[in-house]
Amino acid sequence: MPADAAPLTPSAALTPPAAPITPPLESWEPSRAEPALPYPRPEFWQALRRGATNRCPVCGQGRVFRSYLGLVPECEVCHTPLGKLRPDDAAPYFVILLAGHVLLPPVFWVERAFQPPMWVHMALWLPLFTIACTLLLRPVKGAVVGLLCRLGFTGNEHLPNLYPDKP
Ligand SMILES: [Zn+2]
Repeated sequence: MPADAAPLTPSAALTPPAAPITPPLESWEPSRAEPALPYPRPEFWQALRRGATNRCPVCGQGRVFRSYLGLVPECEVCHTPLGKLRPDDAAPYFVILLAGHVLLPPVFWVERAFQPPMWVHMALWLPLFTIACTLLLRPVKGAVVGLLCRLGFTGNEHLPNLYPDKP
């Protein structure tokens, strides 16, 4: 104890300090640690392949769809909450991308080679585009669900408790 310090008496210890003690200013940083996933994260191509073939991206055994495009609430084998994942517009986007790149070159080729009337184009390409998009949509949506699993989405991203360590 320094010589000029007053001895600590019980009454001095109980009196509050004159100014409130403020903690030092520091910026708050969110946690960048990976959140704990409720399922083991699958490999990239494995997750896409399993989802595209209507298999659970995580375990490869349960189903992804309960109807043409409706997701099961959870995998019946590993209970991964697949129904909470939100593929939203990603599947139609990729379907349009694929169908457009596969079918538009023949459209241009037929037009340039034969120059048929417009009703022939409509009668030929509209059913082809419809069939191609209908057949592609389900496997592509399954692959998007697999991608969401690979990226670590849980479906709880909209909940407010994103940063549980926030002071
Ligand atoms: Zn599963």
